[in-house]
Amino acid sequence: MARYVGAVCRLCRRSSEKLMLKGSKCVTKCTLDKRPKPPGPQLGRPRRLSDRGHQLRDKQKVRWGYGLMESQFRRAFARAERQPGITGENLLVLLERRLDNVVYRLGFADSRAQGRQLVLHGHITLNGRRTNIASCLVKEGDTISWRPESAKTEYYKTLIETIEGKTTPRWLSIDRQKLSAEVLSLPTPEDTEAKFDAQAVVGYYSR
Ligand code: SF4
Repeated sequence: MARYVGAVCRLCRRSSEKLMLKGSKCVTKCTLDKRPKPPGPQLGRPRRLSDRGHQLRDKQKVRWGYGLMESQFRRAFARAERQPGITGENLLVLLERRLDNVVYRLGFADSRAQGRQLVLHGHITLNGRRTNIASCLVKEGDTISWRPESAKTEYYKTLIETIEGKTTPRWLSIDRQKLSAEVLSLPTPEDTEAKFDAQAVVGYYSR
């Protein structure tokens, strides 16, 4: 599956917003603090964005934040459109239910990219079965845990010691001794860490 392999801090600089794509480094040593200007040559005054430009910027922010390529994001949007209710909110919930995001939100990973890697490398089990599909959507009652072999790794041992201080969203419950978790309910749009205008995303694709 294709993924973005460029410098992720450029994406934050392009969005003028911290998208927290690098885990703990984003808190301790953020590039955006040092270089707040957009990437590329600085050509005098910043351009004024049109409405369409703002919609594009918002759409890219969501997409980059969740680490999706354009085609994956479009598919998620099309699925959100087919569901009853408000498309923008449906989209947020769909993105939040992705397994790589759930691994990140549980504190098993420092970033969504790392969560995705843990899933792709087969460290995570969903309902007791090993899965390497980062995009699969969790549902109410699902359990997320670690493969027994992965529980012998140094990463796991360090995680057991450090996970105490991490917060868990209210729609998930976690057993910090066993590092296993359950989906208590589906997330609501308020449960997401969204700092963007989901309606702008809808506006972008509606033209
Ligand atoms: Fe974005 Fe993190 Fe890089 Fe800061 S350190 S610019 S928040 S990815």
